[in-house]
Amino acid sequence: MAEANMQVCAVCGVKIIKMVGGDLVLFSVGTPGTRETLWQKVCKHTQKPGCINRKDS
Ligand SMILES: [Zn+2]
Repeated sequence: MAEANMQVCAVCGVKIIKMVGGDLVLFSVGTPGTRETLWQKVCKHTQKPGCINRKDS
């Protein structure tokens, strides 16, 4: 299996699978989504430096 293509955000507890055409995000609950979904649902509220999906502006 392509374990190397998977990242886990230790802060948010989600798994990000790198895929051509858009990464797939697996949440601990609910249906899979995109990185944008992850940002809107989880990482936007986290504001911790360990998050791998932070948007630095
Ligand atoms: Zn995160």
